[in-house]
Amino acid sequence: MTVPFRDLKRLHEIGRDSSRSRLESALDSATFARPNQWIEDFEASYADYCGVDHAVATASGTAALMLTYLALGIGPGDEVVTAANTFVATIEPALALGATVRLADVDPETHLMSQEAALALVTPRTKAIVPFHAYGRLADLSLLRRETSRLGITLVEEACHAPGATRNGRMAGSFGDCAVFSFGPTKPLAGLGEGGAVVTNDSQLALRLRRWNDHGRTGGEHLEIGLNFRMHPMEAAYLTERLKLLPEFLEERRALAHVYNDAFAPYGVVKNPDVTDYSAHSYYVYVLDVPERRRFTELLTEHGIGWDIHYPRAIYELPAHQKMFADLDFANCSALQRRIVSLPMITGLTELERNQVVSCVCDALAEVSPDH
Ligand SMILES: *Cc1c(COP(=O)(O)O)cnc(C)c1O
Repeated sequence: MTVPFRDLKRLHEIGRDSSRSRLESALDSATFARPNQWIEDFEASYADYCGVDHAVATASGTAALMLTYLALGIGPGDEVVTAANTFVATIEPALALGATVRLADVDPETHLMSQEAALALVTPRTKAIVPFHAYGRLADLSLLRRETSRLGITLVEEACHAPGATRNGRMAGSFGDCAVFSFGPTKPLAGLGEGGAVVTNDSQLALRLRRWNDHGRTGGEHLEIGLNFRMHPMEAAYLTERLKLLPEFLEERRALAHVYNDAFAPYGVVKNPDVTDYSAHSYYVYVLDVPERRRFTELLTEHGIGWDIHYPRAIYELPAHQKMFADLDFANCSALQRRIVSLPMITGLTELERNQVVSCVCDALAEVSPDH
């Protein structure tokens, strides 16, 4: 039996009838113009889900990041600090606006940006710090929250992996000055190909985000420069329906991760279990930290078990960006980069498939870590 890394069709089948009927209502309503009820409904339900006052829906996670940096007035001479192991989309909009990006190394146990390393990069030009909730685990922002408030720096949660992740009962998106989400097709809240949002409790920032997202308009007047990063109404209609299922999807991901943790921990490869009882991961991906990754992944492939790497190259090693970071050393991130492997995290995985993944992974781990 083979088990793929991902199965988006299976995800779509769950709740298919309710998603289709909402899509049909949206289509038949022919209400695609602005202001748009489908979008307003989604923004209200997503803000409510995150426990914040405002959500601004966008065309993608990348658009949400661009919109955020524009609304914060980030431009040439400004600096943005983020995690060395994030996806390239976190930095692209800042670079496109002419800002400088500084990368902070990560904690080897949690894969999360070190708060101390991030603060060590702060200069008088730092406009925003963008901690990355890597793989769906909420970063601890206590120190950054205090220091960014004191220094007048905006704290932007990079929450694209983490819709529904919690700490002490608070949702991802409610810790920073604002937070950015993606509803891309592989994300825990998967949309129709593209989608994103920025959430915030700051009414002034929400107003600037809405203006930048709607050609600078408020009350029909073009008061400032703006652009259009808006979400499609069909996407908003679909996501409103899918959001109702997200708690169920997350519960299933967490249950599967729990089985994986118990099975793989004896091999010493679960370096980032969901260790606390006060936080809950959203498991965009389930990541193992394995020795001899090449051999390990060969064994998985031989046995038909899907796997992936998030991400195959760190941003400071990408051809487009490596020059910018050439003199810098990200020791922890680089060490992890050679060892990380993502395992199947499929909504609707059968028990038989789950047992197959567990037994093949255990066999492969026994081969590459014979001491255990
Ligand atoms: C997916 C992703 C993005 C970009 O989101 P899109 O919706 O694909 O534009 C940004 N940051 C991270 C960490 C992501 O995983």
